Amino acid sequence: MKTIFALCCMLLSSSPIYSWGFYAHRLINFQAVFLLPPEMLVFFKHHIRYLQDHAVDPDRRRYILPQEAARHYIDLDHYGPPYDSLPRNFRKAQTRYTLDSLQAHGIVPWWLQVMQQRLTKAFREKQTALILRLAADLGHYLGDAHVPLHACSNYDGQFTNQRGIHALWESALPELFAEEEWILLTPRANYLPDPSAFFWNTVFESAAAVDTVLSEERAASALFPQSFKYAYRERNGVTARQFSIPFLTAYHRGMNDMTERRLRTSIHAVASAWYTAWLNAGQPDLSALIENGDSTGRSSVEWLNKEWIREASQERKQ
Ligand SMILES: [Zn+2]
Repeated sequence: MKTIFALCCMLLSSSPIYSWGFYAHRLINFQAVFLLPPEMLVFFKHHIRYLQDHAVDPDRRRYILPQEAARHYIDLDHYGPPYDSLPRNFRKAQTRYTLDSLQAHGIVPWWLQVMQQRLTKAFREKQTALILRLAADLGHYLGDAHVPLHACSNYDGQFTNQRGIHALWESALPELFAEEEWILLTPRANYLPDPSAFFWNTVFESAAAVDTVLSEERAASALFPQSFKYAYRERNGVTARQFSIPFLTAYHRGMNDMTERRLRTSIHAVASAWYTAWLNAGQPDLSALIENGDSTGRSSVEWLNKEWIREASQERKQ
């Protein structure tokens, strides 16, 4: 048994996973819950542990589902810029490029549209387990779409002699700074009138940031000889060689806090996508879906929810 366990650990540690680190994905789903209107909040907060724990399920599925990996990224440099002629609709894209070709270069903005539709349907049908699973998954894919290195083929600096930059940007920086230093407060969730356009805009923003991600790593590395770039520090209870804190600080400042901003934007985007699915499903009463029929405080939730929607509509008019 021990041998099998050790083998699994080896396989997991030797297969690279490129996506926001586990820490950040859990954080995104957790924080997004608190941007929801009260009627959603009461349901999502009840299941917040599930949303956190399953925020990384799509990465785990990569080991067993061959088609899973493509759902986490898109090599936009394969198509442009400009991207005007790139079909925003998945069916049209398959007609033009074939599914195999699309899979080879990543499908995250198209896959997000599928996930959004599925979540909306799950809300409409009030399928509690499905709502939670799809909300956790959507939070993951939408988080990934905010990572610049998920929007280009040079995803780990392999073409520019910057191997390791992926984990540096999306794992090392959030793990060191997010909890104590970063400001992750954002306005509450927005309705997305055109989710497809929103998802595409997200990956275009990510692609536009790639040059900065790479050039600032080069600049920071030039300032730090290898002996200062790395240091032995504790991580998850294990002391290991990692990027040094001065190097991480220099890189973060060089990018003008980009990782912090993208993390904050991810949280807001995930809450907005969940909220939009719920609104488009006709605002089903989620308090009735809470296990054990717990309807504690339902009337106050209804009142808070009306206030939330009224204020949100006023904000939109301003
Ligand atoms: Zn991922």
